[in-house]
Amino acid sequence: LKKKAKDYEKQANQVKMAAVLGAGIMGGGIAYQSALKGTPIMMKDINRDGIKLGLDEAKKQLSKRVEKGKMSADQMGDVLNNIHPTLNYGDFGDVDLVVEAVVENPKVKDSVLRETEDVIGEDKILTSNTSTISIDRLAKNLKRPENFCGMHFFNPVHMMPLVEVIRGEKTSDKAVATTVAYARAMGKSPIVVNDCPGFLVNRILFPYFGGFARLVRDGADFQKVDKVMEKFGWPMGPAYLLDVVGMDTAKHANEVMAEGFPDRMKDEHKSAIDVMFEKDRLGQKSDVGFYQYK
Ligand code: NAD
Repeated sequence: LKKKAKDYEKQANQVKMAAVLGAGIMGGGIAYQSALKGTPIMMKDINRDGIKLGLDEAKKQLSKRVEKGKMSADQMGDVLNNIHPTLNYGDFGDVDLVVEAVVENPKVKDSVLRETEDVIGEDKILTSNTSTISIDRLAKNLKRPENFCGMHFFNPVHMMPLVEVIRGEKTSDKAVATTVAYARAMGKSPIVVNDCPGFLVNRILFPYFGGFARLVRDGADFQKVDKVMEKFGWPMGPAYLLDVVGMDTAKHANEVMAEGFPDRMKDEHKSAIDVMFEKDRLGQKSDVGFYQYK
C-alpha cells in the first residue's frame, strides 16, 4: 500500500502559486493558511469590500501570532506579501491550482468555475470548497472535468486540520494527487473521498445534529447536553457547534442530506435547527443562536 501511495504521489504537480475565489469566511482563511505555510496565493472577489474582509481576517490571525511571540512583525509582513488581492481573472496566468470559495449557489459557482477555466493553463487544477453541491454536478459544465475535484476545508480554516479531497467520476489521479500535496503543504491532513451528499464528515455530523435535535424535542436542556459532550471529551457540544456553523448553513446541509439519504435522515417533525432558523437565531453570525453573543 505504501508503494502504491508513493506512486500516486509522484503524479502530483507542485503548487507554486495558488488562487482562491471569494474572500469571505472560508476564502480569507484559505488565503491566510496558504500564505502562512509559504505558498503565495491570489485572492479574488467581486468587490474591494470583499477583499478587505479577507485581508482583515488574515491580519487579525497574524497579529495574534505576533502578540503570542510566535512570529516577528517582519515575518508577518512577509506572509501578507504572499497574499495577492485582485479583482481580475487576468492575473491568474501563473496559477497552478484554484480553490473556488464563493457563495453556496450552484449557478454562481458554475459561472465562476467556467470563467476561471478559460484563463488558467490547460493542465492546471480547479477545485471547489462547496459543502453540499455534488462535484459531478459542478463538473458537468466544465471543459476539463478531469482537472476538477472538491477541496473541502472546515471552519475556522486555520484551526481545523482535516481537508476532504473529493474525487468526481471524471477526476484524474493527477488532480487528486496535486490537491492532496497542496493540502499537505498548507499543513493540513487531507483525506480522499468519493462524491456523495455530505461527503464524509457531514455524513457523520448531521445524523449527530439530528440526534441532538430529537433530544431537545423530548425536553432535554441544550446547555446540559453541551456540558455532557464536553465532559465526554469533545471540544464543544452540538448546540454551540451549530451556533458556529450557522443555522442557515446547517438547515441547507440538512436538506441536502435528507434528499440524499431519505431512509436515514428524513424526519416528519421540525427540528431545532428549523425553529432557530425561522426565529432568525442564526448563531454567532447574527449574535444569537442557542446562545447569546452580545
Ligand atoms: P461567504 O459569504 O463568507 O463568502 C463568499 C464570498 O464570495 C464573498 O466575499 C462574496 O463577495 C464572494 N463572491 C460572490 N460571488 C463571487 C464571484 N463571482 N467571484 C468572486 N467572489 C465572489 O461564504 P463562506 O462561508 O466563506 O462560504 C464559501 C464556500 O465555502 C461555500 O461554498 C460554502 O458552502 C463553503 N464552506 C463554508 C463553510 C462555513 O462554515 N462557512 C465551511 C466549509 C465550506
